[in-house]
Amino acid sequence: MREFREFGHRLIDWVADYLESPERYPVLSTIQPREIIDGLPAHGPEQGEAIEHIFEDFERVILPGITHWNHPRFLAYFANTSSPPAVLAELLAAALNANGILWKTSPAVTELEIVTLQWLLHWMGLPGDWFGMILDTASTSTLHAVAAARTFLAPETRDAGAPQNLVLYTSEQAHSSVDKAAITLGFGRRNVRHIGCDDEFRMRPDLLREAIFRDRAMGLKPCCVVATVGTTATTSVDPVPAIADIAEREGLWLHVDAAYAGSAAILPEFRWLLEGCGRADSLVFNPHKWLMVPVDCSVFYCRRPDTLRQAFSLVPEILRTADGGMNFMDYGVPLGHRFRALKLWFVLRYYGREGLAQIIRDQIEMTRELRERIAADPRFELCAPSLLSVICFRLRGSDESNRLLLDGINGSGRFYLSGTVLDKRFVLRIAVGNRLTTRDILTELWHLVDALASSDNLSAL
Ligand code: PLP
Repeated sequence: MREFREFGHRLIDWVADYLESPERYPVLSTIQPREIIDGLPAHGPEQGEAIEHIFEDFERVILPGITHWNHPRFLAYFANTSSPPAVLAELLAAALNANGILWKTSPAVTELEIVTLQWLLHWMGLPGDWFGMILDTASTSTLHAVAAARTFLAPETRDAGAPQNLVLYTSEQAHSSVDKAAITLGFGRRNVRHIGCDDEFRMRPDLLREAIFRDRAMGLKPCCVVATVGTTATTSVDPVPAIADIAEREGLWLHVDAAYAGSAAILPEFRWLLEGCGRADSLVFNPHKWLMVPVDCSVFYCRRPDTLRQAFSLVPEILRTADGGMNFMDYGVPLGHRFRALKLWFVLRYYGREGLAQIIRDQIEMTRELRERIAADPRFELCAPSLLSVICFRLRGSDESNRLLLDGINGSGRFYLSGTVLDKRFVLRIAVGNRLTTRDILTELWHLVDALASSDNLSAL
């Protein structure tokens, strides 16, 4: 324990320096594929090694292979920013090593999760009686939602296997995790309908209704609709109230994927994002995207916990209890249940709703300022409306020039942006959401974009 104590103090200092200024590292790792694999021994050590020695290798071999998601110039994917209170809570959770399989195997794991998820329901204006649990990712949460939908519409699935005629509806802008859920649960990609969007990338309810009618006429069984609040490419928001009308009328399960944008609903002025979502059967949002909680922490809410139990509950004799506590193992695939609620609790208490809302509000505002700069420059066009912290834009020109622009930005080593395709054209995407990103940093990005766009090799294309 002496080594742990001594080294632990040093490590906390290291982590504090890191969290204060991750800019001391390049945002993108510059190593080549296999460099780490080839840099480490092929076989594990026979004898134990000193922490000091392991840490030296961490700095020498591992750190260069890290792309820094905490970096204020990481603007590629939805932010996944860590925060000091969450890191401290992770240390405690690892030390406690509590596994909330059952209420009894660690009552605090279950009960803190119930409490924190109720706080969030209240902050987001969602129904206070929803069941919630924390899973690793939104992909897993959506998988659980679609499994529940399948049980709801086809209860025979549990014993007889899934019928081949179930259909799932989502938009052509939905995240690939929706398709993966359908593949995994035996709907088959053939039975996934990607409903067309309007010119603001929102699912069109009229096309959804038509698709359901068409499928019924063909003898298929419409089962589930997944709406997105904050799509991955543009952060567009599907018209959930109209989609909920259809889902209710047609008897479909409605799942809402609010993985990124859900966090913004803690701002009173962005509550509207979740309009109609209180009528959903389930909803996912990721505190590990925009709520200062490090990966992994995905919140899965469900209005029908009995359906989840029906889908997943299977209690072997060794896990039978009679204490009346709620057991998370009855509501999903994983048996083991990490104490993720601890870091969530630390973060919610440390910042408070106002503190978190202010961070998100600033980020939305500084994104708007950058967007206006881009819009005012005739060399560029904005490619999607966006009210949150993402900008999709492109140079007026070829896809090739836009790809070169993105390569130039990322190749500078100063920023990390992503690109995507909208309306068959390649566009650049800036996603703001890191705790340490400032207006000055976005101004610096603008100067870089401006200089690259004026450079000879780009303007020649
Ligand atoms: N849904 C949306 C809208 C997303 O943007 C993403 C990822 O960015 C996901 C789901 C998947 O999230 P996860 O990595 O937690 O599975």
